[in-house]
Amino acid sequence: MRLASADDKSKLETYAREIASLEASLRGAEEATLQDPLTGVGNRRLFNEAIQKAVKDSNARKTPLSLIMCDIDHFKRINDTFGHSVGDEIIKALTRIIASNVRETDSVARYGGEEFAIILPGTGQQDAKATADRIRRQFGAKQFSIRKTNQKVGQVTASFGVVEHCPGDDEEMFVQRADAKLYEAKARGRDRVAGSGDPT
Ligand code: GH3
Ligand code: MG
Ligand code: MG
Repeated sequence: MRLASADDKSKLETYAREIASLEASLRGAEEATLQDPLTGVGNRRLFNEAIQKAVKDSNARKTPLSLIMCDIDHFKRINDTFGHSVGDEIIKALTRIIASNVRETDSVARYGGEEFAIILPGTGQQDAKATADRIRRQFGAKQFSIRKTNQKVGQVTASFGVVEHCPGDDEEMFVQRADAKLYEAKARGRDRVAGSGDPT
């Protein structure tokens, strides 16, 4: 009896150690993940790494670099009217349109809930603005509906801020400028692209 219980105790200790080690590696895997689970594009963490590298490369090689920030318009209303899962599908639809309009060397990341960032190495302001506008038009032209019930959701729009990297811009400054342009696109009425070359 004593022998058996000592054996059980050691088994229990072994299991406890195994569980602790599995938990630790799961935490590690979660922290190391660079992919957004809903959309499959990069997450905020990937964005932070990619923007650092892109700014460094652009400075070193003296090549252009642009950044697009994009945010779905009045998204709260969509969620409130049609439900969160319809909102999720719209986020995924935007991701697909973004992915089909960027180059392999560009990095796409889900920056926040319904906000995306696109890093475009080797691309200047005008081309980046053209890319943003293509995404804007394709997304805004889509007629969404709920397949199961045939209920019409209709069109959904997004706003874009586009900036080109300036020598001396650190990552933070660069993102801040793109954010400010996105804010400007929202303030000017949404469903538009605001870029640093625009008249104010
Ligand atoms: P604006 O045009 O100014 O951007 O208005 P908005 O309503 O889009 O902006 P706001 O930031 O007020 O709302 C964003 C909403 O996005 C609120 C939040 O519930 C929703 N959201 C965030 N993440 C997700 C998500 O993963 N799925 C869904 N369905 N909704 C999300
Ligand atoms: Mg929004
Ligand atoms: Mg937002």
